[in-house]
Amino acid sequence: MRVPRIFLSPECRLEGDEVLVTGAEAAHLARVLRLRPGAEIDALDGEGRAWRARILAADKEGVRARVTGARAAAPEPPVRLALVQGLARGEKMDLIIQKAVEIGVARIIPADCARTVIRLDDERGRRRRERWQKIAVEAAEQCGRGAVPVVEPPQALGDALSLLRPGVTAFLLWEGERATGLKDILDSVPCTKDVFVFVGPEGGFTGDEVEACTAAGARPVSLGPRILRTETAGLVAAALVLYAWGDLGRI
Ligand code: SAM
Repeated sequence: MRVPRIFLSPECRLEGDEVLVTGAEAAHLARVLRLRPGAEIDALDGEGRAWRARILAADKEGVRARVTGARAAAPEPPVRLALVQGLARGEKMDLIIQKAVEIGVARIIPADCARTVIRLDDERGRRRRERWQKIAVEAAEQCGRGAVPVVEPPQALGDALSLLRPGVTAFLLWEGERATGLKDILDSVPCTKDVFVFVGPEGGFTGDEVEACTAAGARPVSLGPRILRTETAGLVAAALVLYAWGDLGRI
């Protein structure tokens, strides 16, 4: 079994040469993974550093481990990809976030679009974001990320567009695009460090939203002749970008 990985948090602290794990994280190690003294864990700071530690004690109170070495965590993709995801219904967002983290997406921005079906008031939005960020942490621990991707608060599409700056590449995934495929651009344009991918909700982008995204500098691109569901399109586009410009598919 691969050495379990935990990101530092209020439940996983580095104190001197010890890693102290409490709460749900400790329960996961002691009860779900049944780790006992002598077993090893990796604690990560989410900024590229990792500490290997050997468990000294593991019980319902918590897990205490002694650091045996520090090293660089797995490298992050060379491309910082932000997925601006038109808010989708319920568990679709959970799936999108989990898979986006595994692919190597750096940031997920849930966008409230004209045709978004779900409406999140501030409190629901806060609770959803907390849930989504927890999914991102768990996915990052599982897949071996060196950092935890950020799930931003749900926001209006226009707010996400205001993040576009010169030097950033932005793709608007639009099934109505007839001239340019994502592949055309990836094969011909030099890559940039920061990439944004805009995906519409289940009902798609309105014509006004396509215009606003284009005016803000996002390039409309087709993903091909088939209409992909919202939970498929962003992941496919992220994978294509990270394959062409990132580390996906590479040693
Ligand atoms: N107009 C779509 C339909 O007829 O079902 C509704 C939108 S589609 C389910 C959700 C989103 O996925 C779109 O807003 C777009 O961002 C993206 N998408 C789906 N298929 C695409 C394609 N072939 N090319 C580019 N984007 C696509």
